[in-house]
Amino acid sequence: MRRLDPSVDIEADDPVTCPYCGSEETTREHPRGPSLCKSIHYCNVCEESFEAMA
Ligand SMILES: [Zn+2]
Repeated sequence: MRRLDPSVDIEADDPVTCPYCGSEETTREHPRGPSLCKSIHYCNVCEESFEAMA
């Protein structure tokens, strides 16, 4: 049986590459600013957050 985890975002987004280390091990965070055209991503490798165009 398969369970759906409601905390997992299953949108088919392209992987975002970390601008610091080039890794694709990044997680999108929920934007809190007024600029909705950008999204905040967090790199799991170098533990840096960065902005990317949505
Ligand atoms: Zn990185």
